Amino acid sequence: MKYKEPAPIVDKLNPLESMMERFHEASRILGLDESTYEALKSPEKSVMVSLPVTMDDGNTKVFEGFRVVHSSKLGPSKGGIRYAPSVHLDEVKALAAWMTWKCAVVGIPYGGAKGGINCDPRSMSQGELERLTRTFTTAMRDVFGPERDIPAPDMGTNPQTMAWIMDEYSKLAGVASPAVVTGKPLVLGGSLGRVEATGRGVMVSTRSAMAKLKMNPGNSTCAVQGFGNVGSISAKLLEMQGLSITAISDVSGAYYNKNGINIDEAIEYVAQNKSLEGFKGGDIITNDELLELDVDVLVPAALEDQITVKNADKIKAKLIVEGANGPTASNADKILNEKGILVVPDILANAGGVSVSYFEWVQNRLGYFWTEERVNRRADRIMKQAFDNVYAASKKYKVSMRTAAYIVAIDKVASTSKLRGIF
Ligand code: GLU
Repeated sequence: MKYKEPAPIVDKLNPLESMMERFHEASRILGLDESTYEALKSPEKSVMVSLPVTMDDGNTKVFEGFRVVHSSKLGPSKGGIRYAPSVHLDEVKALAAWMTWKCAVVGIPYGGAKGGINCDPRSMSQGELERLTRTFTTAMRDVFGPERDIPAPDMGTNPQTMAWIMDEYSKLAGVASPAVVTGKPLVLGGSLGRVEATGRGVMVSTRSAMAKLKMNPGNSTCAVQGFGNVGSISAKLLEMQGLSITAISDVSGAYYNKNGINIDEAIEYVAQNKSLEGFKGGDIITNDELLELDVDVLVPAALEDQITVKNADKIKAKLIVEGANGPTASNADKILNEKGILVVPDILANAGGVSVSYFEWVQNRLGYFWTEERVNRRADRIMKQAFDNVYAASKKYKVSMRTAAYIVAIDKVASTSKLRGIF
């Protein structure tokens, strides 16, 4: 194959480089032709906007907003919008490509996209966040659309943010357009089960992997990094499966209890206090120590690049299930593989969220709403099937679950592109 290998990661980690290394590796194993490789390498569209917002003190502040559509080969592009101070274009590009691979792995008819605004939502008022979100929606009016590009929540955004996008877009379109966005509040056409969907998918993936490794949930311990929507619900559902959750963490630090943390108490604590700061249900440890704990299962459900060449060697878990997007830098993959750790990769493990987003979009277009039981049953089926497909590919190609997931995804997008004849 002639295409050039991406430059190796030297010191500063960049999620786009991690994504590209895996894409390259899987393309090579798959024997992807050069023109398809080149076509899938770069996003179809990268839009950057500046967003002037009147702040509560009367001053105007200008924010930077992004939407990257990586691919629309399998259908309208799909992916969340992230509000965080660290948002930058390369990160959004990586996250957009991951959405393409994620939707392809679970077999839903979407391409991949991601958006982000460089802001600190924790320090902004509701009014400021609303004005920012409406300005962003107006700026992206030609990008978003129920048949074109459909946002959803991600880090720093929530159902309220989606309600503002839905309202602003509907005003511009002159017609109520609930299907332009998913993860909406229930009363606005959201789906039952959507809030829990990513955590539920993490739980289903963990159970599938534990069965392959012949691990018994009742005798297993687990550490969960991150206690936002994904981390807290994953922890709760894994606890309900019988695992003992011995450590949890958030921005305030990590909390360890060898007898298991009471997850309901932790969730209640965060509801009252906004973070785990001051939580007494466990001893304080650092986030780095959490990753290296002697547990059976590790669920990184926070940020990118948490497991790297620096700490991969110290990880003791037998199984890692990636609730976050990109929590493992590509330079750590080899070390984890050599240690015999089974890694259920992000593009598979956290795909429960976008799967139920798809159900929400379907329900909006039908104008007919499903019971929670139906949503969960169908989402579980998608996740189990996707796990089995990736596991089978990992055996067929003799590669890690991560490389196998990329192979399954790239193969699907590449063969669809060929049929459509678009490069
Ligand atoms: N932000 C979520 C993710 O990274 C959900 C995306 C969606 O539902 O469109 O998968």
